[in-house]
Amino acid sequence: MATQETVEHKYVYDFAEGNKDLKDLLGGKGANLAEMTNLGLPVPPGFTITTEACQAYLTTGREPDGLAGQIEAHLESLEREMGRRLGDPGDPLLVSVRSGAKFSMPGMMETVLNVGLNDRSVIGLSTQAGQNDRFAWDSYRRLIQMFGKTVCEVPGEEFEHALDEAKHAKGTRNDLDLDADDLRGLVDAYKKIFAKHTGREFPQEPREQLDLAIRAVFDSWNAERAILYRRQERIPADLGTAVNVVSMVFGNLGPDSGTGVAFTRDPGSGAQGIYGDYLANAQGEDVVAGIRNTVPLQELEQLDKRSYDELLGIMARLEEHYKDLCDIEFTIERGKLWMLQTRVGKRTAAAAFVIAGQLVDEGLIDLDEALHRVNGAQLAQLMFPRFQLDHDVPPVAKGIGASPGAASGKVVFTSARAVELAAEGESVILVRRETNPDDLNGMIAAKGILTSRGGKTSHAAVVARGMGKTCVSGADELEVNVPAKKFTVGGHTVGEGDVVSIDGTTGKVYLGEVPVMPSEVVQYFEGSLDPEHIDNPLVRAVHRIMTHADAARRLRVRTNADTGADAARARRFGAEGIGLCRTEHMFLGDRRELVERLILASDAREREDALAALLPLQRADFVEIFREMDGLPVTVRLIDPPLHEFLPPLEQLAVNVAVAQERGEDVAKEEALLSAVRRMHEENPMLGLRGVRLGLVIPGLFAMQVRAIAEAAVAVTRDGGTACPEIMVPLVGAVQELETVRAEAEKIIAEVVGDSGVEVLIGTMIEVPRAALTAGQIAEAAEFFSFGTNDLTQMAWGFSRDDVEGAFFWRYLELGIFGISPFESIDADGVGRLVRIAAEEGRAARPGLKLGVCGEHGGDPDSVHFFHGVGLDYVSCSPFRVPVARLEAGRAAVSTTGSDSR
Ligand code: ADP
Ligand code: MG
Ligand code: MG
Repeated sequence: MATQETVEHKYVYDFAEGNKDLKDLLGGKGANLAEMTNLGLPVPPGFTITTEACQAYLTTGREPDGLAGQIEAHLESLEREMGRRLGDPGDPLLVSVRSGAKFSMPGMMETVLNVGLNDRSVIGLSTQAGQNDRFAWDSYRRLIQMFGKTVCEVPGEEFEHALDEAKHAKGTRNDLDLDADDLRGLVDAYKKIFAKHTGREFPQEPREQLDLAIRAVFDSWNAERAILYRRQERIPADLGTAVNVVSMVFGNLGPDSGTGVAFTRDPGSGAQGIYGDYLANAQGEDVVAGIRNTVPLQELEQLDKRSYDELLGIMARLEEHYKDLCDIEFTIERGKLWMLQTRVGKRTAAAAFVIAGQLVDEGLIDLDEALHRVNGAQLAQLMFPRFQLDHDVPPVAKGIGASPGAASGKVVFTSARAVELAAEGESVILVRRETNPDDLNGMIAAKGILTSRGGKTSHAAVVARGMGKTCVSGADELEVNVPAKKFTVGGHTVGEGDVVSIDGTTGKVYLGEVPVMPSEVVQYFEGSLDPEHIDNPLVRAVHRIMTHADAARRLRVRTNADTGADAARARRFGAEGIGLCRTEHMFLGDRRELVERLILASDAREREDALAALLPLQRADFVEIFREMDGLPVTVRLIDPPLHEFLPPLEQLAVNVAVAQERGEDVAKEEALLSAVRRMHEENPMLGLRGVRLGLVIPGLFAMQVRAIAEAAVAVTRDGGTACPEIMVPLVGAVQELETVRAEAEKIIAEVVGDSGVEVLIGTMIEVPRAALTAGQIAEAAEFFSFGTNDLTQMAWGFSRDDVEGAFFWRYLELGIFGISPFESIDADGVGRLVRIAAEEGRAARPGLKLGVCGEHGGDPDSVHFFHGVGLDYVSCSPFRVPVARLEAGRAAVSTTGSDSR
């Protein structure tokens, strides 16, 4: 018998072993470092510990078997390659320990630089750098600071405070003025801070530093801010992070060294060009932290032409290779360029469309791929209003338009206050000197974010763009004083609660509220901008991609509209009919009185009179809608809500009766209403006398509506139009219900339509689980199904939306019972299964059965993909979501992988 040697699971990959498609395993950073290594780009050597190792660690609380040995082996080969040993006192190898998950989570997790430095190797480092003591001690103080904060939870402010003190003692505000002695002193101060908070000395053993740092990166996956960010961005909680161990290169060796970030195109507008920030004599974290002001990347050309040219060449190569906008981090060590990171860069919604269009023009991608590169959420964002261009309010400051949109709100200076005021329903603008990951809660709560420091790559800018939130960064005319809760600008003082407006496109800041106007994209959809003749790259790109989506999609897109005006607007947005015309409003307003008469009717005559009075009013409503939707189908839902919803509330009636009695007035009518309301009271109105049940219980009610629809259709047709009404019966659970309504309706329709040529379909909503489960029977009596996924969700889960969303959904989201509210995006496993069963069994019973959906889900991107997959004929959504649904239906049709752009 052969002995089976157990093959050890591989947890560590050398950069040369990976590639960009291994993001699940190596994380985005690791996979792309590997890809760049294999492209032959200058990447400092290193290795990646897999997300699987992290997952194992997070579930068991300890490093998996074999990991320590594999790290040892990879470290040894790295040491051999570099010709240095980790922390060697004479000539130390130093490494960075960097987090990197599958989806980028900017600044959410941890990185420690300069691992391997200690009291002895700091001397060796200096010697090797040509007796550069300043550099060596600067690197060592950075290690203690990052290690203390990240690995041992020492409060970061204490280190910053000590640094400020050192600068103060030196009489400077610039960290570059600190010399080697100052930095040596700072190292001592840092060590004391470290010991005070951890109860131990700063670890001198390089391998212990490495192991603790790796563990801290694993742990940072579950840091509060990371959890929050994942929830916001819908990133699954169990992916874990990879850990990259990268040999250090030094941007802080002197003026011929430096560090920077860059984009291959403008992530704000999509424009081609060179976008980036550079900081001489610094280590990477300084750029994002805004320690000193960066210079535009273009200035590197003067400082170090050779590195600049090489960088531009590499950027062009990366774009060509990834066929997309890339963002990169680089460091120059004494004139030698090193690539430290690249990824397909985050971008604004506008840039996503513009870049996708450009890449098609450049022949790098085709239109199907362009369609993949954008999504409905981005399109929805582009439809937000903007500030009016001709308003006469002058800006008080201009910063960088870091994330577009127009936002007005009350100024707040702390994350906590932003959360508080937002919870009270206020719009707030979070104003900070710069944001850091601890501000995340406040950034989520705020309408917009305004900072006085930092560029397009600052924390505020990156995170806001990711969230689709308006942000102006680096408005440096603002003097922000957070403790005093105020900022000053050009002689004005703005305090907490004062209103400001910020324009994330232009970077302009206004005092007070600025009026808004529709976005160009909405103007385009409304037909007032001709995409062929305007010089607006965004509108042209949207037009091009929408045209392709429309050509590609199989799903039709209808709208939910109850009035002629809504119908007309939706039609301009591309709606191909009405999927849900509610008739509730046709019983409201000055018609309430007729409804009261109907409810209070004591005999058939009184009831018929009330209905007869309602008939012409409703007919006129339908005429208007059919005219606007000329030639397109209009699904009209017969009355759905319980009738008592049309009566005044019980308390109000009781008061009216009491007051009238007091005054000795005639209260007969009020009393009758009051007793009707008492009689009709329901414990669970949602599950009570509503929908088809009303039609079966109140004689003549549905008949009146059917007659009004048929007469309106005939009238429109006689006038030369084409009305295509579809009568929809709500809340059916059994075929017998529908058959009963149908029998009566068919008689009326036959009588009204005569030889006018009008065709009226009769179908039903599928919104009660029993209807989905008996769809085969119901299809015998229905010419179409429309899934009412709001009710279907409520009834499948057994909870009412109005009661539960505020009450406990937050807890369910926190526990991961849902990834997202099932009212927002269809619950594919449960509710979606009911849809699937009903679609299949309905079509089996009646081939050609028309299938659509009319719940809110019809305009939700993920749900649209689901409905495409189930084979529905159309989705219906609110007018404003129609373009979003068109785009997503196109994306679903060209999707081969089913994955969507994030
Ligand atoms: P983040 O994901 O927050 O950007 P990174 O792991 O990319 O964190 O690292 C933070 C900063 O440190 C970046 O600016 C990066 O370029 C720099 N950095 C990371 N590793 C090294 C290294 N080996 N040598 C020099 N700089 C590094
Ligand atoms: Mg980075
Ligand atoms: Mg319903």
